[in-house]
Order: sequence, then C-alpha cells, then structure tokens
Amino acid sequence: MRIERVEAVQPPTPGSPADWRTQLGQILVRVTTEEGLEGVGVGGGGLAGVHVVASVLRDMLVGRDFDRPEDLHREMCRQTSFYGRKGVVVMAISGVDLALWDLAGKQQGLPVARLLDPQVDLQVPVPTYATVWDEAEAIRQIERGVAAVKLHVERFGVPPDAEGIAGLVKRTREALGAEKEIMLDAFGNWDVESTLAVACLVEPFGVEWIEEPVQPDEVGAYRELMERSPIPIAGGEHEYLEEGFRGIVDGGLHAVLQPDINWCGGMTTLVEIYRMASAAGLRVCPHRGSEPYAIHAIAAMDPRPLAESPRDWFKCLGNMGEIIDGVVNVPDRPGFGLTVDETLWPG
Ligand SMILES: [Mg+2]
Repeated sequence: MRIERVEAVQPPTPGSPADWRTQLGQILVRVTTEEGLEGVGVGGGGLAGVHVVASVLRDMLVGRDFDRPEDLHREMCRQTSFYGRKGVVVMAISGVDLALWDLAGKQQGLPVARLLDPQVDLQVPVPTYATVWDEAEAIRQIERGVAAVKLHVERFGVPPDAEGIAGLVKRTREALGAEKEIMLDAFGNWDVESTLAVACLVEPFGVEWIEEPVQPDEVGAYRELMERSPIPIAGGEHEYLEEGFRGIVDGGLHAVLQPDINWCGGMTTLVEIYRMASAAGLRVCPHRGSEPYAIHAIAAMDPRPLAESPRDWFKCLGNMGEIIDGVVNVPDRPGFGLTVDETLWPG
C-alpha cells in the first residue's frame, strides 16, 4: 500500500469533562492509500495532536509504501523523539498507528483481532467492568451483567479518608456478594502512607487492585507500594511507548498494566506491552478497553480478558461495539470495522 493522504481533526464531543481531556481531547486520523483504501484511527492531543499529524507525520508518511504498521511506527517515534517521547506527540502517533492497522486489516479483509491471532474466536464475547462513582451505580451495573466494578474515590479527599473508603468498599462488597471483583482508582492523588492506610483497611473485603495511587513518575513510591501494599498496584494509563512500559516492568512498579491504546502508541505499542507482560507474568487490563480499538487486542491476546467501560462522550464513530448484558463482541468486519461521519473531515 502507498500512502496518499494523511488527515486529522478534533471532532466535537458534547458532554466531555471541562478539563484537559476536552482541550487536548481525542482526535480522528484518516490515512488514505493510492489504492483507495481508508484507515481511521483515534489518537489524542487535541489541536496540538492534529498539528503533529498534519505536519511532521504527514510529511514523513505521504508517498511511503508499507505493509506492516510496525515499520512506520518505529520511524514516527524516531522522527519525534527529541520533543515527544511521552504525552501529546505519542497520543498523535497512536491515532496514525491505529489508522495504519485499520488499513492492514482492510487490505487483507480481516478484523485486526485476526491479524493478531488468526485462530481467535470472535463469537466469544469479552466480559466488561464498569467504572463508577458511587455504590448505587455499582449495583446497577452488576445487575446489568458486568463482571466487576471500579470505584472512583476522589471525593474522599487528599489525603484520603481511609475509613470512609473502607466503609464504601464494605457496603459494595455486601451488595455484590463474594464473587464479583471490586477495584479502586485514586487518580494519582495519594502518597505511600495514605495508600497503605487505605489498602490495609479494604483488604478484608477483597479488592482486586488500587489504580494510580500516586503520580505516574513517582517511581520510588510505586516500588515501595509494590513491596508493602497487601492489594496489587495498577497503573499505566498515563505511560507511553514500549520504553515507558519497559521501565514499569523492569522496575517492578505495577502488578497490573493499564495502557490506553489511543494514547500509549497505538496497537503496535499495545502488542509489545502484551508480550512484555506475558514474559514477566503480569496482568494487562487496557484503559477503556471496551472501546473499538483495544478490544481487538483483548480478544486476541489477553489470557484474562476484561474490558473497561467506554467514555460516553466520544460518539463520532459508527459501528462501535455495544455492551449488552455486561459483555461486548469484537465486530467481524475488516480492520476495526468502524464508520465515520464524512462531514467531520476538513474540506
Ligand atoms: Mg484510571
């Protein structure tokens, strides 16, 4: 395939949070080949991400032949390494990489999941977990069939009210019964001691993981928590590229890796993370995994598939897999199997 055109746009996302996730929000990337195929990816970085795609990456890619997205991925990273090994630039690369994987699937007439594992059974639905903000919603979601719930606990303050969180987990456990998994997400707001205080108090109620207890670059704190916390430590939704996850794995910083395919470097990076985690005996549970990109890797590569509920403000793609009765199916269509509203593209 030879690349003819590379375009990017930040679509409107009514209802998205009034913070960086909107200002530097999701971008749509379209790569068109001379053969007339169109690949569509979703990345991040808002207008800054659009600029990276529509300048540096477009100039590098137009006119290039490719069969394997991995080859161009390496080059995109090298081209931007002096100013973008983490954050906005890698979010932009993620969108392009996913568009290239979409093209690779369409060229072969196969869903991306089948490119990753030709034997994958797409009739087997993937269980999901719901990220919730209160116990009533946790119960509603469990009644709808999800396999697990993750409680956001930001409202318990900084440092957190550990007794309050333990009370919430206890009540949620009593309501859900012994079987369903419960996780906690601290959104990077705590420190080592307050995380340990929470971990010790919630341990009797069975918690699968505590997510992002401290900021992503607090390496020493993560190492200490991995040694001392009775609850497994999760993170990675704000980490980037194979090298970033290599640091987490080799440094023994997380027990559960949570890459975001639309930020961390795309499918090329997520595949590398799955391989790395498998070799190290770690679990991978991609951030917002039920959305239509990561779900292909979860179905094809994950020994313990569990897909997080989607962001409900990103609606510009058609044919997104829907969670029904707590599970989601990978669409058996070429590429990622998505459609896009044509009017979104510039001129
Ligand atoms: Mg999180």
